[in-house]
Amino acid sequence: MEMPTADKKIFKKLGRAIRHYELIDGGERIAVAVSGGKDSLSLLWLLRERLRWIPKPYELIAVHLDMGFSGTRPQAVEAFCRSLEIPFHFEQTDYGVQAHGPENRENPCFLCARLRRRRLFEMAHSLGCSKLALGHNQDDIIETFFLNIFFGGQISTMVPRQILFQGALTLIRPLTLLGEREIQGLVHRRSWPQIINPCPSAGRSSREQLKKMLTEAYVHNQKIKGNIFNALSNVRTDYLLPPIPRGKRRT
Ligand code: SF4
Repeated sequence: MEMPTADKKIFKKLGRAIRHYELIDGGERIAVAVSGGKDSLSLLWLLRERLRWIPKPYELIAVHLDMGFSGTRPQAVEAFCRSLEIPFHFEQTDYGVQAHGPENRENPCFLCARLRRRRLFEMAHSLGCSKLALGHNQDDIIETFFLNIFFGGQISTMVPRQILFQGALTLIRPLTLLGEREIQGLVHRRSWPQIINPCPSAGRSSREQLKKMLTEAYVHNQKIKGNIFNALSNVRTDYLLPPIPRGKRRT
């Protein structure tokens, strides 16, 4: 059966991101963080499908961390990975519960994401992987840019490729050029089951609020999203303010 045109476009953008940002080399062992959300399921499937036609294959290992809420998410993620014949590694944590506990003074998602990220690095390393692939897409990268300004007071975002621990591990984001709607379309065409996130903060985070704001802006002018994304690699530092030492900041 011929591949739908929309899927072909997705594979083109995936390939372009992999080449342009130099994300994957043949022969590598790559840990793919699979939370169970549409982005991570799509990432795993796309990287697996791509192996059908690329000349230098790589090895994929799915890693999943349970956040400590009740539910059947790990089983559903495992079934998905097994259906793709990809090895699955799972670890039970209480990161989500800790993040919502009385001792946490910061935003639950900030703590949860930090703990999860650190554990994923350790898992990837212990599995002998040189790369850890995350399912962040173009919309996530734009949202993070604004979240870092709004709540962190700095201009930065998630990058497609980040070398960590003196080169022992490289974080990669192969969905960097793919928008959320393209991924939703892929999930819909493939009829993958929706794996519900049982976390009480799911869908209620600052990111979700920002997403709504940006969606409104995109409705007014369809070029805005592309312009923001392009601006992230077109930074005119000579037209930004010079740094002010920490103690002298006015706000
Ligand atoms: S929504 Fe819940 S599971 Fe997801 S990052 Fe936030 S606290 Fe963690």
